[in-house]
Amino acid sequence: MKHTEMTSEELMALSEKNIMGTYKRFPLVLTKGAGASVWDKNGKEYLDFVSGIAVCSLGHSHPRVVEAIRQQAGVLTHVSNLYYIEPQILFAKFLVEHSFADKVFFCNSGAEANEAAIKLARKYASLQTDGGMYELITMKDSFHGRTLATVTATGQERFQAGFAPLPAGFMYVPFNDLDALEHAVTEKTCGVLVEPIQGEGGVRIPAAGYLAGVREICDRHGLLMILDEVQVGMGRTGTFFAYEDYGVTPDIVTMAKALGNGFPVGAMLATERVASVFTPGTHASTFGGNPLAMAAALATAEVMTGEGVLENCRDVGVYFLARLAGLKGKYGFIRDVRGKGLILAAELAIAGDDIVRACMEKGLLINCTNGTILRFVPPLIITRENVDRAMTILDEVMKNI
Ligand SMILES: *Cc1c(COP(=O)(O)O)cnc(C)c1O
Repeated sequence: MKHTEMTSEELMALSEKNIMGTYKRFPLVLTKGAGASVWDKNGKEYLDFVSGIAVCSLGHSHPRVVEAIRQQAGVLTHVSNLYYIEPQILFAKFLVEHSFADKVFFCNSGAEANEAAIKLARKYASLQTDGGMYELITMKDSFHGRTLATVTATGQERFQAGFAPLPAGFMYVPFNDLDALEHAVTEKTCGVLVEPIQGEGGVRIPAAGYLAGVREICDRHGLLMILDEVQVGMGRTGTFFAYEDYGVTPDIVTMAKALGNGFPVGAMLATERVASVFTPGTHASTFGGNPLAMAAALATAEVMTGEGVLENCRDVGVYFLARLAGLKGKYGFIRDVRGKGLILAAELAIAGDDIVRACMEKGLLINCTNGTILRFVPPLIITRENVDRAMTILDEVMKNI
């Protein structure tokens, strides 16, 4: 039987039967998307304030990205990094011109970008000393990925349970605590890995001066400052890179989620001084930077920086946060609302699951992280009317909780 002839129920049963159970899925088979909307197999439309978790930032099926993928797929999909790759050269130039960085390494996911950053930091440190400097300080409640090294970098034990022995060389301090960071530095420390805004950890915003303080500590102790912008980079906070608004210049930045607007792409950016320790043979990725991925990423980046998307993100973000603050005034179980650009959250005093499900039934997709924190990461192209629609649904749902 063709999948188009199967019902949602049949497809979901087949999924449970054949796919490893690493995800708890909502009972929804999504088959189509355009802009800020997605449709399920039964033709029901949903306003998508999840965007594949901060991935489809230009909205679903953005015509420029679709065209770039179609065009490139018809010409050249993949060749090895044994050869020069035109769209990769162009996209690297774009990233360098729009950032602190001098050099880029391409891969396929956020975990892989962080894995590359960890290796680069260790390699760099190993050449400074006799090899005794390898430890990275990361933050509690952080999220850096699911590979062994990145899940170890992740400061949340629930993601690490059962996977011992974990790689050595990671230390954790509370986010937003410069004293704790200062005290954790030892002669083994080679760098600090931090998300400018903690995404999975619950949209936790850096305190005023925090990231500049991290930079200062890094400078004083000769440590690399590594920013994980996998979730909050690529325009999500209203600037192309999240660090831009915090007055800091990192040594290494990692990116992924929105980089290809849904096409898997990851990247690690670094200054020349640091990047120069990666020489032929030190690190690699078969698919990293392949022509198709780079065509998608270049088209995404051009639209992101060229068509008022960042301005819209900032403008609608402020409006959205004010609407959330309005709900907070109305419902005592909303403890806090916060965010920047279009990564926003409502922290609840109650579990968020029922609210997420009820919103879904009314045609709005939102996400809950850490059990009680509603996270909103819509496409950056949403309008105030989209926000109004979402807030009407959320209000109706909260009224009946
Ligand atoms: C999602 C995420 C990752 C992991 O990215 P994958 O593509 O799932 O490997 C790493 N860091 C942050 C901050 C993320 O949000």
